[in-house]
Amino acid sequence: MPSLSHPHIAIVGSGPAGCYLATALVRAVPGCEITLFDRLASPYGLVRYGVAADHQHTKAITRQFERLFAQPGVRFAGDIAIGHDVALDELEAAFDAVVLATGLTADRALPVPGGDLPGVLGSGAVTRALNAFPGAAPLPPLGSDVVIVGAGNVALDLLRFLVKDRSGYASSDVADPVLDAYLADPVRRVTVLSRSDAARSKGDPQMIKELTTLPRARYSAHGALGAPGAPADDRAAARAAAFAELVSPDRETPGGPEVRFLFGAAPERILGDGRVSAVQIRVGAERELVPATAVLTAIGFDPEPDDLLAQLCAAPSPRTGRLRPGLYRTGWAKRGPSGAIPENRACAKSVAEEIVADLADGSLVPDPAKHGFAGLPARVRERAISFAQWSTLDAHERATAGPERVRRKVTDHADMAAIARGAAHTRTSA
Ligand SMILES: Cc1cc2nc3c(=O)[nH]c(=O)nc-3n(C[C@H](O)[C@H](O)[C@H](O)COP(=O)(O)OP(=O)(O)OC[C@H]3O[C@@H](n4cnc5c(N)ncnc54)[C@H](O)[C@@H]3O)c2cc1C
Repeated sequence: MPSLSHPHIAIVGSGPAGCYLATALVRAVPGCEITLFDRLASPYGLVRYGVAADHQHTKAITRQFERLFAQPGVRFAGDIAIGHDVALDELEAAFDAVVLATGLTADRALPVPGGDLPGVLGSGAVTRALNAFPGAAPLPPLGSDVVIVGAGNVALDLLRFLVKDRSGYASSDVADPVLDAYLADPVRRVTVLSRSDAARSKGDPQMIKELTTLPRARYSAHGALGAPGAPADDRAAARAAAFAELVSPDRETPGGPEVRFLFGAAPERILGDGRVSAVQIRVGAERELVPATAVLTAIGFDPEPDDLLAQLCAAPSPRTGRLRPGLYRTGWAKRGPSGAIPENRACAKSVAEEIVADLADGSLVPDPAKHGFAGLPARVRERAISFAQWSTLDAHERATAGPERVRRKVTDHADMAAIARGAAHTRTSA
């Protein structure tokens, strides 16, 4: 019979937040049994499907998470969508505690007239296509003139994609059909809009510096470049220095697109008859009309309408992960769509502490009648893809990688599940 110190804990979502939380709970609640559910056949969330394909050093965090799944008492249950394959109350009936680590996946709408015109694409849609997300819509042709709204790290990922040539994808797992289609007709001009000035824009200085190492593109910066004098902090100073280097006339810029950063700038209206043709931009007190064949937005994420959090009407809260004793959330589902992978670690640790506190003060009492994963209906247990099965799919993707690629992702969910389960497979893609 489970003792007070052996609760069954369900974590919904196996992205960084779910994996860090499980890691923290293994340490903080010895003997607990943890199941990480994911609606996908693969673990790791945005590490696999958001982090840029040419940043394999960032994706390498999965090696750390692999060690988590090797721990006794930790289980992966893929291909199970909570709220669809298993209702939340069904999960709560089987587990002592349920933690939502479901992230945020819907591209935030651009709140200006014309923001929904064809040709306006969210960063999630673009990065899912490049990362071979199962069932992702193909990337439409972007044309000659792209405007990127936002200048944070995700916007810089988009810009890197637009300016890179094929050599920039060596040892990556990029979706080759998407890359090939883009490189057959790459963009000529890119305008990047940042609300703030260069020093206070949102991108990491390292990400801006990386642009200076790429073979293509010529850069210029306009608008609010920041007040003369030292920026407020070291990071802002590093950012300003990185932009100064990027636009320096001393840099060699052998061809490629023209990239213009507009600081202190925001879109007011997207114009177009049936699809995007221009963006009306306010830069300080001035207005500018920039021709555009596509607009890529990198302005954040919201829950999908059928997301569990949307159903629970739970707005982001940086303060607490506790929705009520027994039901918690962590990661982007708790804090909203900001913060890099490491920030989910601190977040998960604090949520683990809340669970420990609830166990200690008796507001969360493990129930011997709850059997965790073993207590779920057979249809769910039999369907769930285990970590060993995911490892079969992982090995298949690595073994079928083409030259210069570390893996070739299977892009069809049913094929992924079939390969994981050991079924014969005929179709692979990306
Ligand atoms: C495009 C992009 C690029 C990024 N690049 C970087 C980077 O280079 N470096 C960096 O440090 N950070 C990067 N980040 C940020 C980083 O990805 C996030 O901090 C992190 O992924 C958030 O973790 P999470 O676990 O909360 O969400 P996610 O990673 O989104 O994981 C959520 C998981 O929950 C699952 N899920 C959702 N709903 C259900 C359900 N109902 N049932 C079962 N499972 C469900 C999803 O399938 C997913 O696997 C990037 C983010 C984006 C969007």
